[in-house]
Amino acid sequence: MSLMREKKNKDVIRGIVFYGINNIYAVKADGREWLCRIKGKVLKEDKRYYNPIAVGDIVFFLPDDHLDDRGWITRRENRKSFLVRWNKKKRAPQIIAANADVLVCLSSVDNPPFRPRFLDRLIISGVYGGLEPIVVINKIDLGVTDGMDGRVGDFKKAGYRVIYTSAKMGIGIEELKSVIFGHTVVFAGQSGVGKSSILNAICPDWDIKVGEISRKYNRGAHTTNFAKLYQLDESTALIDTPGIRELELYGIDPDELWHYFPEFLPFLEGCEYPSCKHISEPICGVKEAVANGKLSYERYESYVRLYDQLKEAKARDYERY
Ligand code: GDP
Ligand code: ZN
Repeated sequence: MSLMREKKNKDVIRGIVFYGINNIYAVKADGREWLCRIKGKVLKEDKRYYNPIAVGDIVFFLPDDHLDDRGWITRRENRKSFLVRWNKKKRAPQIIAANADVLVCLSSVDNPPFRPRFLDRLIISGVYGGLEPIVVINKIDLGVTDGMDGRVGDFKKAGYRVIYTSAKMGIGIEELKSVIFGHTVVFAGQSGVGKSSILNAICPDWDIKVGEISRKYNRGAHTTNFAKLYQLDESTALIDTPGIRELELYGIDPDELWHYFPEFLPFLEGCEYPSCKHISEPICGVKEAVANGKLSYERYESYVRLYDQLKEAKARDYERY
């Protein structure tokens, strides 16, 4: 190895991306914050993607020769997990966050209304990317409707932890804290469900931190459109994501969708074919269980709808798989 090359390698710094806006990434390394841009190659490698680097990514960068606290990202470490969605407008997969281990799938009792199908999709995206989903239902102070209770029970039966919270009344916040501490947690949900309120309840000095970040990197622009990572302590980090209006699945083949409905598993032995999709096959353990009330009709219906959507999408957006 030449001397020059060795010198270069020495200068490379490893850090974590905690904020990204317009191709500029805020990277934390050894307690310092750097503003970095991408140096060619990383982009090429990930051309398919809407964003080659996401919040939570571990990157390697070279400090700029002339400007303090500026750098050039040369490489990104392989992700151990990710939250991805299909960006319809850009027709490309979009990584919302990287390297977390828990996904808080946030919804509310009302205002905006409880949307279980949105939760189904969010959970599936999380599991696809290697995250453990937790369902959090906020605004419990508004009460719970009967129909909603059943659907929440379905999530529990499928094996997902469900936590009811009220950011307003301080309900469930301690429980939520206890399950997220020691992890890197992505918070995702539709806007208006109370994500900011919950994050503030978990970490009361949040407001100040958000303010700091927006002043420093955003120059007054809308902060809510970008994900941000907050390191709470050595082993706990929270990733705040912008409110998601629509969540389209990426990378999941319709024929494998049933893998993401764990409650179907015990009934598969009733299916005639191992390749059963549990849709139109006449002898199907899953469909039988739905007919007998052993499986939730609502979850199954959600499955069928998603299956149809993915089938249709596969014919249209081949890049999506
Ligand atoms: P975000 O868009 O998900 O970040 O939601 P916000 O935290 O900005 O909250 C949206 C609205 O819901 C605000 O008017 C909050 O005051 C209200 N809100 C948040 N949490 C609760 C709650 O637990 N109960 C009730 N009733 N309202 C809440
Ligand atoms: Zn079947």
